[in-house]
Formats: sequence, structure tokens, C-alpha cells
Amino acid sequence: MSNSTKYIFVTGGVTSSLGKGIIAASLAKLLQARGYSTTIQKLDPYINIDPGTLNPYEHGECFVTNDGAETDLDLGHYERFLNVPTSQANNVTTGRIYQSVIEKERKGEFLGKTVQVIPHITDEIKERIQILGKKGTFDIVITEIGGTVGDIESLPYVEAVRQMLWEHENDCLVVHLTLIPYLAAAGELKTKPTQHSVKQLLELGVQPDILCCRTEHPLDLNLRQKIAKFCNVSVNAVIESRDAETIYDVPLLMQQEELDKVVLEKLQLSSKTTPNLDAWKEFLHTLKNPKHEVNIGLVGKYVELKDSYKSISEGFIHAGVSNECRVNVKWIHSEKLSKENIDKELGGLDGILVAPGFGSRGISGKIDAVRYARENKIPFFGICLGMQCAVIEFARNVIGLKDANTTEIAEDTKDPVIDMMEEQKTISDKGGTMRLGAYKCELKPDSYSAIAYNTEKISERHRHRYEFNNKYLPTFEDKGMIATGKNPETGLVEIVEIPGHPWFVGAQFHPEYKSTVAKPHPLFVAFIKAALENKK
Ligand code: GLN
Repeated sequence: MSNSTKYIFVTGGVTSSLGKGIIAASLAKLLQARGYSTTIQKLDPYINIDPGTLNPYEHGECFVTNDGAETDLDLGHYERFLNVPTSQANNVTTGRIYQSVIEKERKGEFLGKTVQVIPHITDEIKERIQILGKKGTFDIVITEIGGTVGDIESLPYVEAVRQMLWEHENDCLVVHLTLIPYLAAAGELKTKPTQHSVKQLLELGVQPDILCCRTEHPLDLNLRQKIAKFCNVSVNAVIESRDAETIYDVPLLMQQEELDKVVLEKLQLSSKTTPNLDAWKEFLHTLKNPKHEVNIGLVGKYVELKDSYKSISEGFIHAGVSNECRVNVKWIHSEKLSKENIDKELGGLDGILVAPGFGSRGISGKIDAVRYARENKIPFFGICLGMQCAVIEFARNVIGLKDANTTEIAEDTKDPVIDMMEEQKTISDKGGTMRLGAYKCELKPDSYSAIAYNTEKISERHRHRYEFNNKYLPTFEDKGMIATGKNPETGLVEIVEIPGHPWFVGAQFHPEYKSTVAKPHPLFVAFIKAALENKK
């Protein structure tokens, strides 16, 4: 057995959306449960430097790491499954690869050579893959290649994989995810698309070791043998990946299929410990057998695409399990909320969450939703823009500052209760320039937040340009909205609360990024608990 880091590549064929991220996370979970420190990386073949500038409709949520990287939402799954933080190194795009190759070229690092896709771009890709292994922290690095095999854009990545397989033969492995469609008219599962996508990989010089076959029906032995024969893999390396009730079932389904065992055998690794998934199984059991139920309204402007709020909805699932409670989420479009329908839309909810966001669209509906929660004493949780809306609402309707606003949408407002941070005012570039990543925060004793966290010193992840304007703080506190969380170095307000309300918390940071199966986020847990206690 070698001591070197092992690299597992996860590629996808036939179609997109087969759930490569969940398979990668599930495999990592199984390897972690056997005592191997494992991390997962996503390589995205698009030209944006990172997804930070992408509209959520394009790409779902932008996930933020502790070190302030704006990344693909799959990294959220990795963290939720493994309970290990990811970093900038865990998500690399074609844009970033080219950017660093071009920077090196400008510095003369290629010594007058012609700079080409092979070897320069592929070398850069291989370096980015191996950075995580070289750190020495991880026994196994799983690299998910975004896109579908055969796409023009993913060619350099597959080529980098081919080179790595050649250079580190015994330390690398390829898991290819494909689809086995069911033809209802023929009453049959069809293997041809899988055969073709493996052929496509073979044309590029890559022979997959394991095939994970997405299917709506069980794969019988005959079919597995057929796939194995046509695709040059062993029969036990044909893994059935059936549609699951929840994504949290997938590690157990993969364990039943012995995906981890096959992987370890092929990498010539022994199982250091018997995999212990008891905590995971208990989580699943509670998830599927809740004792209670609450109805939470999620007010946002991207609700047509639920991936835009992925970490928030997963945070609800984790917090629900902590409270032995099913969390039914009612998705409420903030643009469609009006004085006429607000009672119908929000009345009867056990809790209201106002979501993060950017720009003016849908903001007045969010402010009305805050008012409704405040006045009707419904537990309220505001995140980032949701917290800012809570501040604006309080200024207008409690303090009486009728024009109070955020300078994000009214630059010349008389009362900029939310204002752009000083250091943001000179920045013109859009990508990677917000206040990003983890910052410390100190909590007021006995506040809702301090009770939820059970500590007064926390660190949470940020992604915003605007802040509570401290000029107004004395007035707010005098009228009953308290800054219960502050950055100890800058004094920036990170949390506002209204004591006396059943539960009213607005957080400038994004707690949802830190909620995992093993560690549901304290604010989500406390919010769901309050919703449960206040249930009508
Ligand atoms: N648009 C707001 C800001 O930039 C809030 C951002 C967010 O909700 N993530 O401050």
C-alpha cells in the first residue's frame, strides 16, 4: 500500500443533472467513515473566474467558503455531507485556469515558449488538482469534472485526467456517472447511451474504472454483465444509482452497492476502520419520522429556481431533524406580495424567513413581509438583505423615518439606515470584491443569538457590500431593535433582534453556509424551535 495521496475523478456522461455532486459527496462520506481524510473539488468548465458574478437563475446559489471564495453550490453539498470546510482550492473554473496561465505568460515564466492548451493549460489543471493532495491534509482527493463528456469545454479537463492516470497509475481512479434510460414503450432499460459515453471517454484516452448508473429501475445481473462487457469494467464496478427519496439517502444506497469497497480495492487501500454511519442513519431516521410539523414561509425573488436558496432549504432540513420536526417550506415570491394578498400568503405561517438578495426588484414585498412578522408576532429570520429589510422596516414603521432606505436602491435617501461600507466606495470591479468569507462576531449575553449558539464568540461567512449605518444605532436601540452581534474589530452590526417578540433575528452574515448534517446551524435550530413553540 502506498502512502501517496489518491485521486478519484468523477466524470459525467449522457446528460447533465445526473447528480455528480451528490455521488462525489456520498463516496467521500463513505471513505471518511472508513477513516480516510477526504476532500472534494469541483472543476467548472466555464469562463467566468468564479460563479460570484452569475445570476442565480443561471447557476443556482453561490456558495461562500471561510476563506471568502465564491463557489459552485456543489461545495455546499460537500460541506454538508463531510462537515469539513472547503476553500478556494476546492473550486476552479476555466476562467481562473486561463487567468493564471496568462499572468504567468506576462511574467515571462514560460521562457519564450508558445503557450498552448497542452501542456500549459493541462499543467495548470493538474497543479490545481494536486494542490489539495500536496497539503498533506488529505488521503484522498475527489475531483468532480463539471459538464458532460463530449462537451468542447471539458476537453482540457479530460486530457488532464488522462495525463494524471498515466503519470500516477496506481494512485488514480475514474468514476463515470451515466444514465440508463427506461423506455416505457419497450418496457426496457437501455444501455446504449452509456456504451456511447464510455466510448467517447475512450476516444480521449480515458478508461473509466467504475460506472455509476443513474436509473429509475433496478439493474439486474444480466444488465450489469452487459454493461461491464461493453465498457471494459468489472461487474462489481457497475454501480446502480437509483432515484432516492432524499439526497441524504445516497451514501447508504452507495454503501449497499459497495461503491466504497470497490474504490478502495482498486486503489489498493485497505479499510482502516469499519465504516460507522450510525449518526447518519439516525439523522435519516428522524428526518423520515418527524414528530411535529411547521410551516415556514421563505420570501425571496428567485423562488422559481429553488437551487438559488439551496443552503437555506438544506439548513431547514438539518434544523428540522434537530427539532424532530418536518419543515414545510412555502416559497413566496416577494414581487407578488401585496397589501391585498399578504394575509392570505403569510397568515397561518409558523415562521417567516426573508432571503438574501441584490438590487431593488422585490424588495418592497420583503419589507412588507418583515412588517407582517413583526406586527403579528410570527418568528422571523432575516438573512443578509433580509436583515437589511428588517432594519429599513423598523426605521420606517417604528422609528418613523418614512424615507429610510438602503443606498443600494435609493442612493440619495434622507435616512440611509443601510449604507455602503466605506472601503466599498472606491471599488468598481464586480467579481470577488464584496465583504466575503468568515468574520468574527461577538454576541450580547442573553440575546436570542447567544442563547442559540450557547457561546458569545462566533465566526460566520459574509457576502455583501452594504451595512447597518451605526449613526442610527442609538435611536434603534432606544426604540427596541438591538444590535446583539457586532464585529469586535470594526464595530459593524452583524445581528439585530427585537426582544419581547417571540423570536426576531436578522443576521448580516449567511448562517446557512455553515449548516451541516453533523452540525445543524444554531440559528436555524432556534428559529424552527421558536416556530414550533408559536405554532397556532
Ligand atoms: N445586497 C445586499 C448587500 O450587498 C445584501 C447581499 C446579500 O443578501 N447577500 O449588502
